[in-house]
Amino acid sequence: MQTFNYHTHTVRCGHAVGDDEEYIKHAIQAGFKTLGFSEHLGYDGWDDPQERIPFLEVDAYFQRMYELKEKYKDQIDLRVGVEFEFFEDQLAYLKDVKQRCDYMIVGQHARNFDHYYDHGCNDEDVDFMAEQVIRALDEKLTKYVAHVDYFMLGKDDFNSRNAQAIARICDAVNRNDAILELNLKGMKYGKKIYPTGMQYMYPHYDVFKIIADKGCKVVFGYDAHHPKVLLERNLEEKALEEMQGLQLHFVDSLEL
Ligand SMILES: [Zn+2]
Ligand SMILES: [Zn+2]
Repeated sequence: MQTFNYHTHTVRCGHAVGDDEEYIKHAIQAGFKTLGFSEHLGYDGWDDPQERIPFLEVDAYFQRMYELKEKYKDQIDLRVGVEFEFFEDQLAYLKDVKQRCDYMIVGQHARNFDHYYDHGCNDEDVDFMAEQVIRALDEKLTKYVAHVDYFMLGKDDFNSRNAQAIARICDAVNRNDAILELNLKGMKYGKKIYPTGMQYMYPHYDVFKIIADKGCKVVFGYDAHHPKVLLERNLEEKALEEMQGLQLHFVDSLEL
């Protein structure tokens, strides 16, 4: 089982529950050595009480997490981070945020402030998403790509053009010595029928086949929105069963 998890939320985003310290205590109980908090980053002009931390509360979040990092330092290695979305016009802001925390993971859910990929996603959107993720990597904002297959929530098929977009992301991951996440939360959305058979929307087998072929480094991300999720260690095995036949290059330690 993985001894680290860099993908954890808190009550601040409005769609997660539980006290900060409950997440930490569950992580210790579950045998994690490193726990990274990666709350959904707030943006000026994009407040939504059910999606992400309010823009004006980002610093208070960092401050509290650094206090907890100190408080629990003898029991677990806490890391203070955010899950961010890349938008070209937010580059200066994102670079500034990077200075204020330990790490950032890119979790691209949206094309812009109005269009979320899970609400409908065409091939051109997938290409656009790929560019956003590649820019985030090449700008050195992150070395961790969360749920690269998230867009499948808004799409009925995974075609050759989408495969090329994923391959471009894989190349950017490799040239930046970054990693891709196999997201364990995605299985909760259930399976759908595709031309290739029944599959989870994400983590999506056809996407991970490309990731395996490209030899990218992979880690599990619990994407915990409830403290108890950190105790569900069987999710790793369940996900591996889904990825049967793929030579995925899991790493056993990760520094971001
Ligand atoms: Zn979330
Ligand atoms: Zn997340």
